[in-house]
Amino acid sequence: MELKTPIENLSRVGPIYQKKLKKLGIKTLEDLLLHFPHRYEDFSNLKPISEVKLGEKVCLQGQIKKIENSRTWKKRMTLTQALVQDDSGAIRVVWFNQPYLTNTLKKGDQVCLAGKTSLAEEGIFLSNPAYEKIGSKTGLTHTGRIIPIYPETEGLSSRWLRFIIKPLLLKTKSKISETLPPEIRKNYGFLDISEALWQIHFPDSLEKAELAKKRFSFEELFYISLWVLREKQKIAKEKAIPIPINLPLIQGFIKNLPFSLTNAQKKAGWQILKDMEKPRPMNRLLEGDVGSGKTIVAMLGILNAAQAGFQTAFMTPTEILAKQHFKTLAEMLKDNGLRLGLLTGKSSKIFSKKEEEIKQKELLEKTAKGEIDVLVGTHALIQEKVSFNKLVFVIVDEQHRFGVEQRAKLCRQKNLIPHLLSMTATPIPRTLALTLYGDLDLSLLDEMPKGRKKIITKIISPRLRPKAYEFIKKEVEKGNQVFVICPRIEPAEDNKKTNNNSAKTGWAEVKAVTKEYEKLSKEVFPELKIAMLHGKIKSKEKEKIMSDFKKGKINILVSTSVVEVGVDIPNATVMMIEGAERFGLAQLHQFRGRVGRSDKQSYCLLFTESGARKTWQRLKALISSENGFELAEKDLQIRGPGEIFGARQWGIPDLAMASLKDIFLVEKSRQAAKEILEKDPQLKKYPIIKKKLKDFEKKIHLE
Ligand code: ADP
Ligand code: MG
Repeated sequence: MELKTPIENLSRVGPIYQKKLKKLGIKTLEDLLLHFPHRYEDFSNLKPISEVKLGEKVCLQGQIKKIENSRTWKKRMTLTQALVQDDSGAIRVVWFNQPYLTNTLKKGDQVCLAGKTSLAEEGIFLSNPAYEKIGSKTGLTHTGRIIPIYPETEGLSSRWLRFIIKPLLLKTKSKISETLPPEIRKNYGFLDISEALWQIHFPDSLEKAELAKKRFSFEELFYISLWVLREKQKIAKEKAIPIPINLPLIQGFIKNLPFSLTNAQKKAGWQILKDMEKPRPMNRLLEGDVGSGKTIVAMLGILNAAQAGFQTAFMTPTEILAKQHFKTLAEMLKDNGLRLGLLTGKSSKIFSKKEEEIKQKELLEKTAKGEIDVLVGTHALIQEKVSFNKLVFVIVDEQHRFGVEQRAKLCRQKNLIPHLLSMTATPIPRTLALTLYGDLDLSLLDEMPKGRKKIITKIISPRLRPKAYEFIKKEVEKGNQVFVICPRIEPAEDNKKTNNNSAKTGWAEVKAVTKEYEKLSKEVFPELKIAMLHGKIKSKEKEKIMSDFKKGKINILVSTSVVEVGVDIPNATVMMIEGAERFGLAQLHQFRGRVGRSDKQSYCLLFTESGARKTWQRLKALISSENGFELAEKDLQIRGPGEIFGARQWGIPDLAMASLKDIFLVEKSRQAAKEILEKDPQLKKYPIIKKKLKDFEKKIHLE
């Protein structure tokens, strides 16, 4: 039996279970062994029956003296009742609605039972205990020890998983090849892989389980770090066109701006120009809160490249953002005579399709001849038909990841890679940035332009709702606009699909966008123009709504969190967030950043129906802090990294996600990866690591 053995070949796993496992992404024996419990139940507390007390969680062993099914007519339940006896005494045992138990458990069987005791008229009894017969070859699995509890999804019970996994672990014990080098294991005192697998599923003690988990967490982080560092190595070997810095030009441009740059902007701008001066491709992440002024910083690079006769591609996630950037660039760079192009996929109303085609063809020809200095657009920029003459600089807004291969494709010049600037408003705590984006150099805009009015943030309890509506109405009367963000759409449907925790958290208080839209437009503000935006609206329609909002044709925009980051609506002064407790702090902070973009006073209203102290404490952090990084760090500690910045979409394994919180472990894993690569950059002496790294690469997906 090999680790790559498909689950179809495992003797105890029938077709129904194969299907269920596959839904969890478990396809091979290895996947199954790496499906870890999320907690444990300590059933190692074995007691003589006579010492069992009421309300106690116990484990006991004895012989079944009697077992039979009966029905209770009142509650329409089947009861399986048994009497179990050991040397010290006997106890009644009751299972509810499991009549099939009498097929496996028979009078005379020696059993081990674990569970809680309750009281009935007849005295103390053991209620619904975990059970198993004593004497199986694999020893006790469900009782009499610390037992693993797996996340119960897709109808796979922990009992079934234990029943399947334990014999497989015993069978494969000496055959699993080690995936961490011995020196690392020794350095950090990690268990070897077989032992760690055993201890994470069937631990001798909770400490051992923790130790095993640490090893696997470390390993995930180690591979992320290895991958990121290798990317960095790869790019360091590539060549790029160096762009000399034209200092007088840059200084002149800065002097002519209607405002002075913040120190953070100056520093970031300088880092970018210095990077691009080198014959190696720049690989930089520009990180700064919404409104921190990233575009201007990028412009310094654009301008400098253009004056040297080179082209820039400016990529945005949506069309409306492309248009917005195009407009800004055109305004800011007009005095410098830069030739800008906007490549859009869809036709506008002004021109016919034919005319649109001619225009686009013309634009592409100019781009190919080098008569366009900056081409702005969405993913449309990577199409085959777009070709640049002398592309040296690629800017991607809000996309984070843009692989070397993609860059090479854009450039189409032999052996040359364009300089890359990736911009994001997502605050990524430093340790995370180092791990997940460690291949990128980091520029931080940790300072907001001067003169911005502080956005007034308030938590709104249900009692204050009418007052808040009144306030919103007054803002609209002043000619201002309002965002309303709701946590989710179509509750019932989502509910069916996920069928997990979300169902439990109570849909009653979730404000569905559709419902909220109806309520606001029919009951609360029937006289105002209200529109709605959510993920199920077609993107063309979405852009239309966004652009109408931008033009002021809509007073209130109700939406899910899909409202594009970065869209500039200077006239919006109120950000109202329903069910605020459902969002991460960093995300709330980003929503807040969509208002306060002019000199008008702006407001962020956090609606919550929760009275929980924890919720209020968390939300209050938003009132006291305006620093996205600080809030992200808090989020990381409170909620874990998953919520923060779409790392889940990136495909980071769950265990690694959870351990990203553990800064110490993150740093250790990074250190270990660095040491290995310094010793052996090609991983020639580490074939297993090399192989695993390849698998890992396949697992994570880039833009
Ligand atoms: P973001 O970082 O969110 O992309 P932008 O680049 O869109 O921010 O800038 C937001 C607004 O702030 C723009 O209107 C821009 O002209 C302005 N701005 C940028 N830098 C400064 C500054 N140093 N002082 C004042 N306003 C600035
Ligand atoms: Mg921006």
